[in-house]
Amino acid sequence: MNKAENSKCLLLNADYSPLRIISWQKAIIWSIKYDNNPTFKIEIIEYYKDKYIQGTNDKQFKVPLVAKTQKYFNIHNRSLKFSRKNLFIRDDHTCQYCGIRFNQNELTYDHVIPKSQFHPDKKNATNWLNIATACVKCNRKKSNKTPEQANMKLLNIPKKPFYEPRYLPLAKELPTIYSSDSDQKEWIKYIDGYF
Ligand SMILES: [Zn+2]
Repeated sequence: MNKAENSKCLLLNADYSPLRIISWQKAIIWSIKYDNNPTFKIEIIEYYKDKYIQGTNDKQFKVPLVAKTQKYFNIHNRSLKFSRKNLFIRDDHTCQYCGIRFNQNELTYDHVIPKSQFHPDKKNATNWLNIATACVKCNRKKSNKTPEQANMKLLNIPKKPFYEPRYLPLAKELPTIYSSDSDQKEWIKYIDGYF
């Protein structure tokens, strides 16, 4: 019963593509609060099968599992905040020099043009267009050189990514979700193919 308290609800866009993960509390609050608001209205479309929240007066509430917005949110032209996590997702956890895939904790980020050579302002060196995922070994080898100076070729030109469902804060939870005893197994039909 205690586990129900931390349950998450998958929020889908009006076209049923995954949009966000929210708490069950938020799902209930939004579904009530925005009931007459066409922009923010959400509808709960599935509940956890065996989870209940004990309310006052012996009332039990079902826990939202999946909800959907009424309005379609065009999120694909929304740019993403630069972060290590989003960077590794953009580069598919693959070192952009040797092409090998690594776990997140074995990856680093490389300034393509090193900070020391970035003109006019070093502070601007950390941005989507000048950062690439690199494994520890390649990053060490490249050191404070440009790819040309180090004679190392980038597999892809770094680009600014736009929002897609694969950037949902799900990556860490996915193995649990896909395991056979997960409560959120019901999410799979909505998220499969987006990761
Ligand atoms: Zn590498």
